[in-house]
Amino acid sequence: MHPDLEKLIQLQETELEIKNYSDRIEQLPRHLAALEEKLSETLQSLSGNQDRLAKLALEKRKLEGVIQDLEQKNSKYREQLVEVKTNEQYKALLHEIEFNSSQIRKTEDEVLTKMEEEERLRKELKEKEQLLQEEKAVINSEKRAAEAEEEQDKSILGNLQNRRRDLIESVSPSVREMYNRIARFRKGVALARANGDSCQACHVRIRPQVLSQIMSGECIVTCDSCDRILYWKPDGPYEVAP
Ligand SMILES: [Zn+2]
Repeated sequence: MHPDLEKLIQLQETELEIKNYSDRIEQLPRHLAALEEKLSETLQSLSGNQDRLAKLALEKRKLEGVIQDLEQKNSKYREQLVEVKTNEQYKALLHEIEFNSSQIRKTEDEVLTKMEEEERLRKELKEKEQLLQEEKAVINSEKRAAEAEEEQDKSILGNLQNRRRDLIESVSPSVREMYNRIARFRKGVALARANGDSCQACHVRIRPQVLSQIMSGECIVTCDSCDRILYWKPDGPYEVAP
């Protein structure tokens, strides 16, 4: 096999691995950001409950004040009942007392409704606080794992980049120039696998004479259609992006 071709195949393999590790490193912060987003949603919903609870306490206090006022009025009216002179005045006072009593009952019902809401909100709040703790624990452990993974990936990536540099330096200058030129135009993928009778990158048919040249591996042949350097491999892990 042409010595440069063998190196180019290794180079291609290295490029794909570099891309794979670069993508992984790029994905990590996004994963963590999604987790942080979830945490902030829980926090927001939790503080919504706290706000509503504070508002409810105020509303309840106000209603309790209303009840107190009405009760005071009624006890004053009751004292006046014994002092009134006419039947008309007596009736009017009784009517006031009756009306205030019904207002008190109505307001007490409102207080009760607010207390029920309070109870429900407190229960929810407790659950959300629990959830928040769980989410925080998940984020912390995922962060630690991500940091370890990133460190490892970066070290592998560094080795791969060194390997790429060594490989590029080891091929002859003309082949290197050709490889760099094609890689630039083909998003870093300068090689394509020949399989059957076609280029696996652009799927254009390869002429039999050219195919036998590729199969021999003795010279560097490029695809007539996509210009990538072709190498013979009936099957293998290095599929080229279309
Ligand atoms: Zn092609």
